[in-house]
Amino acid sequence: TSLHSSVVPGSRDRLGNDPIFALNAEAARRRAAGESILNATLGALMDDDGRLCTLPTVLETMARVQDHTAGYAPISGLPAFRAAVLHDLFAGTELAARAVAVSTPGGTGAVYEAVQNFLERGQQMLAPSFFWGPYRAIAAHTGRSIDTFPMFTSDGAFDVDALAAGLDAHLERQGRALLVLNFPCHNPTGYSLDDAEWARVAEVVTAAGHRAPVTVLVDAAYMDFGGELARSWVQAVPALMEAATVLVAWTASKSLAQYGARVGALVGLHRDPSELSQIDNALGYSCRATWSNCNHAGQVGVTELLTDDALRARVGAERSGLLTLLRDRIEVFNRHVDATGIPTPRYDAGFFVSVLTPDEERAAARMRELGVYGVPVPGGIRIALCSTPAAAIPRLVEAIEAGVAAG
Ligand code: PLP
Repeated sequence: TSLHSSVVPGSRDRLGNDPIFALNAEAARRRAAGESILNATLGALMDDDGRLCTLPTVLETMARVQDHTAGYAPISGLPAFRAAVLHDLFAGTELAARAVAVSTPGGTGAVYEAVQNFLERGQQMLAPSFFWGPYRAIAAHTGRSIDTFPMFTSDGAFDVDALAAGLDAHLERQGRALLVLNFPCHNPTGYSLDDAEWARVAEVVTAAGHRAPVTVLVDAAYMDFGGELARSWVQAVPALMEAATVLVAWTASKSLAQYGARVGALVGLHRDPSELSQIDNALGYSCRATWSNCNHAGQVGVTELLTDDALRARVGAERSGLLTLLRDRIEVFNRHVDATGIPTPRYDAGFFVSVLTPDEERAAARMRELGVYGVPVPGGIRIALCSTPAAAIPRLVEAIEAGVAAG
């Protein structure tokens, strides 16, 4: 019968839903049936009562701009919004003058545009061995794919030598490279590069970029939860730009707790102005050819939130409450997990951490028997501390211990 399917072969038998949402649904079913379930799967910041955390100033501002929903926004985004994103990232540096931004539906749309325009069909995006699952689908959907390098050395540091080898292999094989680095607060491991690591990454990118086109996509989705690391990567951008193109996936989803607004941007930086205008045009074309244009009211609201000093200060103060909530959970988690001796990457900030274990499927299944849900990823189990109350962490770590012992 599949011979007669109207769905083309490449699109058949695809999962219509993300596997994480499926696990979440199972956890919700068991809880509704009366079991005590600890659900550490979903990547949104929740308070200790399981309610989505929001920022009052953001909600007020977004409600106030609703009369902008009727008309189209420009294809590449409102000029003021595009400038506001650059201001948010690069205020106080010279970088905004060498950057362009186009609006996208969230960071997801930004990643899509990067894959579409900086790799040819059949080529591979390069990512660390732990990566955000949808990268794979986004790449596959555009006829590209993903390839990885080992993320950590045996002593748990980011493996810059493996990254260099990966870049070399890609230049050799496909004559270009698109590297995605989701720091700070890497999903799923919780790792953030320190200044010295960013500097070493820039060295290997520059060495590669002198040989063939190299693009580095900084997926900064979680940066505003990085505390002092929030903009640490910006210092590395001038060095990265010496021989490479730099892209930044910007999103309001986590920074402004506006997951559903679908307000994001893809930023491009290049040392050569004519190349930069080429990038701007290519990204605008992709907007037109996919979603046409993005949430108009959302861009108006986010522009105000990023550029009005009084609003920005209020949002910063409100967000710092959420950072404290998360930091307390991280502190409790690190203390409990360190006592078990189970390896975890360095985890100072962010929504997620992973415990490292070779048989993640068995470990996660054992945890589920104990009513505790994490997300198995190759080589580990992702724990969403963003949705785990501090009081539940001792139970979580006990289940992790049982899972790792079974795995
Ligand atoms: N990148 C990473 C690593 C993420 O975890 C997410 C969201 O979960 C995104 C990008 C994009 O999210 P959105 O499309 O909601 O901005």
